[in-house]
Amino acid sequence: MPDIIRVKPHHFIDIVTAIGQGQRRFEPHPYGHAVHTVAHKVMADLDAVLQLELGIDDICEPCVHHVNDECDDEIDTSFRPEAPSSKMAWNLLIDKRWCKRLGLKQADRVSVVEFCRILRAQMGSDISAIYREIPREMTVERQQALERGLAYFLDDPTEP
Ligand code: SF4
Repeated sequence: MPDIIRVKPHHFIDIVTAIGQGQRRFEPHPYGHAVHTVAHKVMADLDAVLQLELGIDDICEPCVHHVNDECDDEIDTSFRPEAPSSKMAWNLLIDKRWCKRLGLKQADRVSVVEFCRILRAQMGSDISAIYREIPREMTVERQQALERGLAYFLDDPTEP
């Protein structure tokens, strides 16, 4: 049985976006979460299996904010006043929108490369509706980086 990585859709998408911003090494975070280990796993194995998880995933599991099967953290609402302050609620909102856009749901299993192919095919030319509480110019930059990250996984992993 291959190692299955439980991951929130937006957590995986954030990793692809960071790679599109040029990041290749992910360092441990003060929160203790597992972005760095999951990022290195997906970069090392494009056939690794992702299981979509809209609750606590493998990244959240060791995080200091993982309390009683929930995230007790809050988000910075200074640039997104319409967003819920609870990170749990915000994440769920974004993940549900991504699932709808991509035609995916809780517990679906896809490989890293399959998820990237679905993203490229389904995300469309404008993802601002998914991040509608965030200033549009920030989302334009996010989408450009995401597209570069997808090129890393789908076209040439040796290129930045
Ligand atoms: S969503 Fe919350 S529990 Fe999960 S990694 Fe982020 S801060 Fe930690």
